[in-house]
Amino acid sequence: MDKLTSLAKRRGFVFQSSEIYGGLAATFDYGPMGVELKRNIKDVWWDAMTKSHDNIVGLDAAILMNPRVWEASGHVAGFSDPMIDDKTSKFRYRADHLIEGYIKQLERKGKVEEASRVMAAFVEAQNADDMPRALYNLIITEQIKSPDSGAFDWTEVRQFNLMFKTSLGAIAGEGADVYLRPETAQGIFVNFHTVREASRLQVPFGIAQIGKAFRNEIVKGNFIFRMLEFEQMEMQYFVKPNTQAAAFEMWKEERMRWHTESLGIAPEKLSFYKHDKLAHYADAAFDIKYQFPFGTEEVEGIHSRTDFDLKRHQEFSGKSMEYFDQELKEKYLPFVVETSVGCDRAFLEVLCDAYSEAEEEGETHVTLKLRPRLAPVKAAVFPLMKKEGMPEVGEKLVKELQRSFKVQYDAAGSIGKRYYRQDEIGTPFCFTIDHDTLKDETVTVRYRDTAAQERISLAQVKSFLTEKLSE
Ligand code: ATP
Repeated sequence: MDKLTSLAKRRGFVFQSSEIYGGLAATFDYGPMGVELKRNIKDVWWDAMTKSHDNIVGLDAAILMNPRVWEASGHVAGFSDPMIDDKTSKFRYRADHLIEGYIKQLERKGKVEEASRVMAAFVEAQNADDMPRALYNLIITEQIKSPDSGAFDWTEVRQFNLMFKTSLGAIAGEGADVYLRPETAQGIFVNFHTVREASRLQVPFGIAQIGKAFRNEIVKGNFIFRMLEFEQMEMQYFVKPNTQAAAFEMWKEERMRWHTESLGIAPEKLSFYKHDKLAHYADAAFDIKYQFPFGTEEVEGIHSRTDFDLKRHQEFSGKSMEYFDQELKEKYLPFVVETSVGCDRAFLEVLCDAYSEAEEEGETHVTLKLRPRLAPVKAAVFPLMKKEGMPEVGEKLVKELQRSFKVQYDAAGSIGKRYYRQDEIGTPFCFTIDHDTLKDETVTVRYRDTAAQERISLAQVKSFLTEKLSE
């Protein structure tokens, strides 16, 4: 991760936010290469959802919503994590993570029986009516110490709501409290009828959305894996009741395929994780996990949410959310299968998977083996020398390519150094203008991953790129 974060900073993918002021925990800025990569990830998701399915349409709902939305969704009452403070170090922890860490520690020490005893008590505590108190009692009985200070000096466990609150109106306190949305899904649910009517859609159909979400996370860290502000790419698929199981299976497979085929992730690094303990509104839930350098963690959730959300909005708004099925000639509340992937986590997954190193002449050479479709820069053009008309030919080629692709022109330093600079940002193809170009109008194309080179005609460069990028 250290190597990856330093590359991300050096080459303009991701920077610490407000760094000159010492930064702000768990907030990051995307630099020139980062915005391109992120945009390409969003594009392949958008294409996979809205272009490949004629019954899925897009939406861009507001971040601020009527606060009643979050009462209906259950976020005001229940979107919270149990937190505990170490009074000695003043560090804050998630009580459940603390216990999980303790169980792992026991397992590592080979104390298997003890680990399973604590695990059983942990499951019981999580299901207790007063969950915070039960977790606290477990921490105290097991004498779990603070991982950082080693102290045993805990506050009570308190539930901490993850929603960021702000207020409407010119004078603070004058207006109602509003929230920065903690997920994009609710903007879709409340627009169920407006989108359906405007697009003349019939169940089954889906609504897809990409947008920012905000969570006041207690535990931060692992670079952009867990942030306060992040982007979600969510799709809600509305189906007839009791057909959700088939839709769920279909989306589960399709979403895994998106990670392997559209993002080009190594399949052996991806896995499904089945949730046995389901949220009260769900009847099935799977995560897609990626093997990050810091552990195998969730990148996407696929949830079968029943009719919970539409039913709650119907109850809280007093407006019918029912759908009239023309074929069945009956009304019902559709069930929902949701796919929810974090754009920033997909970004990190792509970076981790693409990062590769090779030792060359005593130096470490980094290459980002990104799928060409995702690469921030699709091609680089180099004049071999800054003379004999080579720069002019190169500049002309760049101008022509720039109408369709993100292309860089580089005339500085040795050809080897120029290749390395492009390898580090994942540019899949480099074209060199040399003496032969001036004679026979051909250029050398060099492939990033193999360093293989071949000559093609100058006139073919554009179609070569078009073909390669559509693969
Ligand atoms: P986690 O268990 O890691 O907190 P979650 O189960 O709460 O995640 P969901 O509510 O299902 O996550 O959100 C869907 C997706 O949004 C996640 O799979 C993840 O990719 C992304 N996501 C959630 N929280 C964050 C965050 N704080 N920073 C970056 N991405 C996030």
